[in-house]
Amino acid sequence: MSIFSEVKEYLTARQAAEYYGLQVKKNGLACCPFHDDKHPSMKIDKNYHCFACGVGGDAVDYVSRMFGVSQYDAALKLIEDFSLPVDAKGNAELSVREKERIRREKAERERVTRIQERFEKWCIQTVDILRGCISEVDSVNHFLIGKPPDIIFSEDYAQMLHAEPLINYWLDILCMGDVSERRGLFLKDRKKVEEIAGKIGAGRKRIMECSRGSA
Ligand SMILES: [Zn+2]
Repeated sequence: MSIFSEVKEYLTARQAAEYYGLQVKKNGLACCPFHDDKHPSMKIDKNYHCFACGVGGDAVDYVSRMFGVSQYDAALKLIEDFSLPVDAKGNAELSVREKERIRREKAERERVTRIQERFEKWCIQTVDILRGCISEVDSVNHFLIGKPPDIIFSEDYAQMLHAEPLINYWLDILCMGDVSERRGLFLKDRKKVEEIAGKIGAGRKRIMECSRGSA
C-alpha cells in the first residue's frame, strides 16, 4: 500500500483541514481557503470540494494545496504532524530504487550516445579515407600510362584494381545507404576497410618507387 492510501485511512480531509486552522460548521461547510470566500462554499468531510472555485480532493491533496508542496511531502507532513503509525521508510527505499533505476537509464542513454557519436565520426572519416583511396588509384592509373608492362602488371596494381569496386560499393553505402546499412558496414567490415586502405596506400608507394628505380 502506498503511503497516500495509508494516510487517507487514518485521516479525513476535514481532520487535516481543521488541524491546520479551517473553521468547519456543523453542516460540514466551510469558507474555502483557496479562493476569497465570503459565504461557506466548501463541503468537507472525507474529501473536500469547493462549489465556487471547483478545487477538491482528499486530506493529502488539501495539505499539498494548502502548503504548496508535493503530494508526497504533504503525506510526510501529515504522518509527522499527526504522528501517524505509517512507515514512510518503505517508500523511501522505493525512492532509492527509483533513483538507481533513473541513474542506470541515464548511464545507458549516455553509452548509446557515445557509441552513436563514434559511429558517426567513423562514417565521416571512412568516407574521407575511401575517397583518398579512389584518388590514389586514379593517380596510379595516370602514372602508369606509358610505363613498362612489368610495372603495370604488378601485384600491387592488380590489388588496387580489384579493390576499386569494393571501395566504390562502401562509399555508396556510406554516402547513400540508410543507417542500418552503414551500421552493418561499421560492425562487419571496419577492419577490412582499414586493411584495404592500408594496402592501397602502401601499393601506390611501391609502384611509384619501383618505377622511379627502373626509370
Ligand atoms: Zn474555493
